[in-house]
Amino acid sequence: MKVIISEIPDEGLELELTEKISSDESIKIVTPVKASLKIDKKGSEVIITGRAKGTVELQCSRCLKAFDMDIDSAINVVYHPASEINKEEHYELKGDELDTGFYKNDTLDTEDLLKEQLVLNIPMKPLCSNDCKGLCPKCGANLNITQCNCLTSEVDSRLAVLKQLLNKKEVN
Ligand SMILES: [Zn+2]
Ligand SMILES: [Zn+2]
Repeated sequence: MKVIISEIPDEGLELELTEKISSDESIKIVTPVKASLKIDKKGSEVIITGRAKGTVELQCSRCLKAFDMDIDSAINVVYHPASEINKEEHYELKGDELDTGFYKNDTLDTEDLLKEQLVLNIPMKPLCSNDCKGLCPKCGANLNITQCNCLTSEVDSRLAVLKQLLNKKEVN
């Protein structure tokens, strides 16, 4: 939803939202995002705190399988008017507990805000499960599903390389 910043009352605004967020290349959100937000105005700054929950579709970094992951993220953001965008360095120095955003035309779009917050909470290397065995580097078989025959020879050749290295060290 769009929040008109000049209409935020002095005591702040409390919102309970269920917002459908369109997916793009940065994130694929499979369920509407549920959020509770407190929006406060301090001069030209808008401070947003609260939580957002949603389910995103990720690709496992080991086996490449698509899987759903629930994200429950705490929100602590301060929005500045876009006209102050050049002073960004100044804000980075000010404090690192708060994320920084910018608003334009007296409007804060909660869809953009929630999307950004979920993107920030996606793990760098998502895993479908902590003990995902990944793909065989040789034949590409998904080792969670099948056991290929490459694995033993793969380990042997790695050992051989290691032995060679050790031998070299001894020579030196
Ligand atoms: Zn996996
Ligand atoms: Zn294999």
